[in-house]
Amino acid sequence: MIDFNGFIYEKSFGSASQLPPATLPEIAFSGRSNVGKSSLINKLCNKKGLAKTSSVPGKTITVNFFKSGNVRLVDLPGYGYAKRPDSERRRWAELMEAYFNTGREIRLVVQLIDMRHAPSADDKTMLDFLNQSGYKYIIALTKADKLKPTELRKRREEIVGELSEAQAVAIIETSAEKNTGIKELKAAIDKN
Ligand code: GDP
Repeated sequence: MIDFNGFIYEKSFGSASQLPPATLPEIAFSGRSNVGKSSLINKLCNKKGLAKTSSVPGKTITVNFFKSGNVRLVDLPGYGYAKRPDSERRRWAELMEAYFNTGREIRLVVQLIDMRHAPSADDKTMLDFLNQSGYKYIIALTKADKLKPTELRKRREEIVGELSEAQAVAIIETSAEKNTGIKELKAAIDKN
């Protein structure tokens, strides 16, 4: 059992060459900038301010490591921020490449997608990568509280079509704001 309350921040890395080799199995969180990744990590770990939430989208590109017992939680840098300069996009790509393609023990990826919208082009690229990589992954749909019940129903139906190619082991609706799906997401992470 993962002790979600036990996660402590370890370190952040901003360049591919700094990334230390993996010494423990890792659970990696990925998603576009502003999808609600920090909020969800903080909710899962029951610790406000563990992952840095920000009102400024496209904040610093770093890979952030947290540890609890014999497992690491990895907060990957967000993508898809339109105003990001090319040099920063390159750094993002190099970091992701270094994270995913250097033989780390990646136990599970939690891919976040904003529940309100169809997956973006960048989300689709990420999903394609995950489907081809062989990594096991869960899709966490975020910000479910922002939809009214009728919209929620409609989006649920649409998402089935939008994610038809996805090979996710689970798709879970969440809201960090309203605590929706947090228990379910923890259980799915634990199980996989
Ligand atoms: P990140 O860039 O993916 O780490 O996203 P953040 O966690 O910093 O959240 C981005 C914005 O979305 C912030 O203004 C959050 O308050 C808001 N947000 C995050 N999760 C939720 C949620 O479940 N519901 C609502 N309504 N807003 C959320």
